[in-house]
Amino acid sequence: MSATFLPFTRPSIDDETIAEVANVLRSGWITSGPKVLAFEAALSAYCGGRPVRAFSSGTATLEVALRLAGVGAGDTVITTPLTWVATANVILQVGATPIFVDVDPVTRNIDLGKLEAAIAPDTKAVIPVDLAGLPVDRDRLYAIAKKHGLRVIEDAAQSFGASWHGQPIGTSFGDMHDFVSFSFHANKNLTTSEGGALVLPADIDAGLCERLRVQGVRRFPDGGMDVDVLGGKFNLTDIAATIGLGQMKHLAAFTARRRELARHYFDCIDPARGFELPPADFGNSNWHMFQVLLPNGIDRGTFIAAMKERGIGVGVHYPALHLFSLYRKLGFKEGNFPHAEDIGRRILTLPLFPTMLDGDIDRVCTALSASLSENA
Ligand SMILES: *Cc1c(COP(=O)(O)O)cnc(C)c1O
Repeated sequence: MSATFLPFTRPSIDDETIAEVANVLRSGWITSGPKVLAFEAALSAYCGGRPVRAFSSGTATLEVALRLAGVGAGDTVITTPLTWVATANVILQVGATPIFVDVDPVTRNIDLGKLEAAIAPDTKAVIPVDLAGLPVDRDRLYAIAKKHGLRVIEDAAQSFGASWHGQPIGTSFGDMHDFVSFSFHANKNLTTSEGGALVLPADIDAGLCERLRVQGVRRFPDGGMDVDVLGGKFNLTDIAATIGLGQMKHLAAFTARRRELARHYFDCIDPARGFELPPADFGNSNWHMFQVLLPNGIDRGTFIAAMKERGIGVGVHYPALHLFSLYRKLGFKEGNFPHAEDIGRRILTLPLFPTMLDGDIDRVCTALSASLSENA
């Protein structure tokens, strides 16, 4: 009999959290309430006291950040083509135009050496993405942003728990004009099942952020209300916030365990087989994902099937998004961003989550070698 199937990720929710969720369900108040406020306070403490508001997703946080930054029709926003498509979709959502900058083939993050050349007079903001939890160089990023007067909206969906030279992602690296967006989707390092949080710059009105979160509604003490801005429906529930509060207690342990497991991958993947490994960063990265590039010439679909046959789940995060039909219609095409395209075709996410055992990593490595022999 084969060992149980190993998924590429799996959330860890402890019994105390499950009991707390049950308490919320029995309480009579299950949508946004005291648990959301407590979760926002915990996140704010983690982010060095900065204002934080919770949302229903990391997509909603990005969209609201763009609106708060005043980005709209006629503006351009710079980002990476190698990310979850949400990062670019929100730019279109607010009526702006995305400008992509190719990635650095080593970090797989936006190539900051190419950023300045892409800045146009109508560029309002840049959205860097910390792919797999490896932070974009914050020193270099903010030096460029400051020089050109760009707003930074950090898409830190994958880097909650990561840091840059000892300073947690979520704290301020700029001069307080930066937003940080987190996602708490089920697959992220800290989850609320679905959810997100937006860390606000000092010059942004938190009240407006709250109105954009729910229909633009402003409430008055006499029970009356008014709407003077178009908001969405992006609030987090107390059920979800309770999961987040339970997860916060384990964040440091989750990150430490992920780092250990990542180290084990470096020890057991045979470099002679031609897999390209991620940067061996055990100080900054939270190891949200462990991603290899398949050797050239290997068919990824066949390889994924071979891994599955051996009981190993893998993922693809992500194909270069400018080659999706919607973006091709905007004029993007093959050859625009060669590094993102090459990585997008060969990248594979291996199993990595805190409750994995060292032996699971060995199993994955054995399956990698066997699947490669079969595919060659
Ligand atoms: C998950 C993710 C998002 C979107 O988060 P949701 O909570 O799923 O809306 C945005 N950007 C990146 C890089 C992500 O990984």
